[in-house]
Amino acid sequence: MTTVTITSLTKTYPNQPAPVLKDFSLSVNDGEMVALLGPSGSGKSTLLKLITGIERPDSGDIQFDGASILKVAPNQRGAVLMFQKSYLFPFLTVEDNIGFGLKVQGASSQTIRAEVKRMLDLIGLPGIERRRPGQLSGGEGQRVALARALVTNPKLLLLDEPLSSLDTEVRLNLQEAIRNIQRELGVTTIFVTHDLGEAMAMSDRMALLLNGEIVAVDKPEALYHRPRSVAAARFMGVSTFLSGDPLHVQNEACTSSQKVFAIRPEHIRVQSEGCAESLPGVVSDCVFRGEYIEYQVAVNGASVRARMSMPAPTFPHGAQVFVKFPREKLFEVAS
Ligand code: ADP
Repeated sequence: MTTVTITSLTKTYPNQPAPVLKDFSLSVNDGEMVALLGPSGSGKSTLLKLITGIERPDSGDIQFDGASILKVAPNQRGAVLMFQKSYLFPFLTVEDNIGFGLKVQGASSQTIRAEVKRMLDLIGLPGIERRRPGQLSGGEGQRVALARALVTNPKLLLLDEPLSSLDTEVRLNLQEAIRNIQRELGVTTIFVTHDLGEAMAMSDRMALLLNGEIVAVDKPEALYHRPRSVAAARFMGVSTFLSGDPLHVQNEACTSSQKVFAIRPEHIRVQSEGCAESLPGVVSDCVFRGEYIEYQVAVNGASVRARMSMPAPTFPHGAQVFVKFPREKLFEVAS
């Protein structure tokens, strides 16, 4: 089992003016699943390429259990990568696909057969040894790809958006399956995604990556309820920030020295009556989403997003309303 320590990693691609990863540091504990969450182009795949050895960093270090892997050949590092597409060999059976890595290592056919069976049981697809990839659904293909990645007992499992191409139900099933398998095997894992819900559902901790820099690292619950900066709060779905006395709403990061407070959209109330904690506004959008209504309300020139669970009052577009920001739900963030 493996502890991964990444220290001050910087990477600039040839002919690029700026680094894509800047002084990136992250530790992943033995058996831990860390989700790396960031928008497209933030440097997530680059990090995985540096860990697997496809790319080399300008500076910094990557250690497994305290020993640098930068000089270790890519195929000797013990990090396996699973992608959005399963990339199974189409002409090989499921058994040969899963057993491929063991065969390369010179394992006996008896060992391979036993290990493949163990992996198929683990991924919940016993008895499909003789099938070919073309006979598998998208979700089954990803399960087999996971088995193939794990069969050699890797030190580190790297998941690069492995569920992005699947539809919702399969995706939710696989989230649970991957999480259970990862826990059962205790394999240290870095999971790359741009999906907040997926990152929260699957990880022990989340690292938020923006423009090649880590904005925050913490447990999902802590980041969800109390992100410490405006940037981290935005990642976690917060778009309303308030400052001043009396409070006023802002959408842009505040440049003054005033304290900045954030509030989650589900804690903001849209109502017909004013009160001490409310500001007047005009409804600019109202979308019914089944379990809740999502409002956009123009308040002092800024746009406030409120998510009110049902049953909730309905106000049409253009309605004059009051937007309540309960004080106990406000939390301070660094701007
Ligand atoms: P993500 O996985 O978060 O979408 P990437 O790591 O793929 O981000 O890319 C980060 C940035 O680096 C992007 O701006 C991308 O265009 C750039 N980039 C990625 N690979 C290369 C490359 N081989 N050469 C030059 N630029 C690259």
